[in-house]
Amino acid sequence: MVPAFSQLFERLQRWSEHFSDRVAHATASPGRTPTLRLTYRELLTRARAVAAHVRERLPHGNVSPVIVLGHKEPEMLAGFLGVLGSGHSYIPVDDSLPSHRVHEVERISGAQLILTPEYIADLPPTDAAFAPLKPDSNVYMIFTSGSTGEPKGVVITVRCLDAFLGWMLGEHALTEGGETFLNQAPFSFDLSVMDLYLSLTTGGTLYSITRREVADFKSLFRALTEANPSVWVSTPSFAQLCLAERTYAAERLPALRSFLFCGEALLPDTAGRLLDRFPQAEVWNTYGPTEATVAATSVRITREIIARGGALPIGRAIPGTEVFLQHDDGTSPPDGERGEIIIAGPNVSPGYLGRPDLTERAFFNHNGNRAYRTGDCGMRLDGWLYFEGRQDSQVKVHGYRIELADIEENFLSFADVRECTVVPVSKAGAVQFLVAFVVPDGVCPDAPAEVAAATDHYRAELAERLPAYMLPRKIYLRPFLPITANGKADRRRLIEMAANGGQPVP
Ligand code: AMP
Repeated sequence: MVPAFSQLFERLQRWSEHFSDRVAHATASPGRTPTLRLTYRELLTRARAVAAHVRERLPHGNVSPVIVLGHKEPEMLAGFLGVLGSGHSYIPVDDSLPSHRVHEVERISGAQLILTPEYIADLPPTDAAFAPLKPDSNVYMIFTSGSTGEPKGVVITVRCLDAFLGWMLGEHALTEGGETFLNQAPFSFDLSVMDLYLSLTTGGTLYSITRREVADFKSLFRALTEANPSVWVSTPSFAQLCLAERTYAAERLPALRSFLFCGEALLPDTAGRLLDRFPQAEVWNTYGPTEATVAATSVRITREIIARGGALPIGRAIPGTEVFLQHDDGTSPPDGERGEIIIAGPNVSPGYLGRPDLTERAFFNHNGNRAYRTGDCGMRLDGWLYFEGRQDSQVKVHGYRIELADIEENFLSFADVRECTVVPVSKAGAVQFLVAFVVPDGVCPDAPAEVAAATDHYRAELAERLPAYMLPRKIYLRPFLPITANGKADRRRLIEMAANGGQPVP
């Protein structure tokens, strides 16, 4: 397998010498015109400036990671590459994250430097050299929702990315310098690693859709038409959203020939409609957690697979990686029976930053490889692996990974909250939004004015602590919560109540 990631800087150097004006990154500017474009030459110049600056600010021996805080600006790429080239690892943080959560990331990671696009744009050019990328070096830490109420940082190394990219490059025939990759996911979400590094290692153009465009259909389709991507990387939810537009079809996006999905279940209906609208394109379902570097299984979804009915498979393991099923007692379920999905291979993370307790619970060594207990249920049938839901209360809302306990713990940190349970409200198997049930202290749940004031207060407090996608759409105050026979919150009944305006179902 080609160690594509280890050779990243050599490849970037090659693109910048041979095709100096090739666009490495494009994104809509805040005022829409003109589109911001960064060539490979400019990208490397800026990355060198970042590398020199980081070395100056964090002298030799200081190994702390560097936070790169922004959205989809071209400087974000220069920040990632420059930090990496300085010998440090980076933490991509989206600037929509409330400052409280950014401070938590800072505290947990021990980061001593935060780089923003404006800061990077002002750095003077240098001819600093990039540090070589060694297999055990950390590349990035992505912070995901944690059940303790604070985020946890998944450490990804050069080895992990070599395994992931070697596989992706082998499986998809990408033309050097000829592809445009759609970047929909924020850089703080590991799905973006798929488009970002596939693009940089093949000399492609990464076209970033910003949150402004996602919020406005007209701008979104203007940007998509301008991008005319050849490789579409997004959550299935995003493609489903686009399918609502009648002109989202091959005539509008003639270059499109691959859809790469990850992060949540791909529904047969979505895959089928995409194949109808883009007859020349392939649709791939890939599966994996951040802890196993973006994706660990994949399958090309064909009309024949869809025609078999039922859920779509998540495919087969990447070469060199074992993906297997296990019962709690360590035994393997036979075909057609459920078990926990375990991933073991070079793509598996060493663990969570600064959390040996969490690392020990979720990771172990297996046949000389790092292995990760995903918490996902799976089933094997006819040689394919199927995703069968979660074992715990982690959910995906429009592709975002959320531990419900993360939200509950944040509610419980308010002095006037005695109990809290958050439940998902789903439609056709996909979570649509979250609902919080709260037992307050000192608020009468039957007094409308008091209830309104308390929920407004919780909403405002929560928005200061959690990313917007984690905020419950509804908050119901109750005098008490239903419990199961063994004294735990009765989530099943609360889900029924959520669908009944928060009231008990008779
Ligand atoms: P994240 O770490 O944000 O990528 O989320 C990983 C989780 O998303 C997995 O553990 C699964 O629960 C879910 N997931 C990822 N890919 C798929 C897929 N193709 N089908 C169903 N669920 C998926």
